[in-house]
Amino acid sequence: MKDILEQLKNKGYKLTQPREKVLGILLHNHTALSVQDIHKKIDSVDKASVYRVLNLFEELGLVNIENFNNEKLYCLTRDPHHHIICKKCGYSEEVPCTYEHHDFNNFDNVQHQMTLTGVCNNCNK
Ligand SMILES: [Zn+2]
Ligand SMILES: [Zn+2]
Ligand SMILES: [Zn+2]
Repeated sequence: MKDILEQLKNKGYKLTQPREKVLGILLHNHTALSVQDIHKKIDSVDKASVYRVLNLFEELGLVNIENFNNEKLYCLTRDPHHHIICKKCGYSEEVPCTYEHHDFNNFDNVQHQMTLTGVCNNCNK
């Protein structure tokens, strides 16, 4: 949390209420969350603001983004990882990333995404 606040501050961004709320949600739920999921947890912030905050965090490289069912899912960046998501209930767990980036001669800022899906034990009962 402190690192992230430092990063924001160093880049000249204030911790506004929407930023603080969104950050709080991301910190306390390490699952991949969609804008809807995040918005649902903070009624006091309108959806457009949630979008703006997430776009900013994306620009600053604070969040990890994955696409699932045409929705962008966000979580805070820590060690490189991916998520495995239950197709039935949306439960998710972190999977460490073991992919080593090659040198891409013709590309810069290379990122990759991978979302694993399955059915969790709870849903399989
Ligand atoms: Zn994650
Ligand atoms: Zn499930
Ligand atoms: Zn990976």
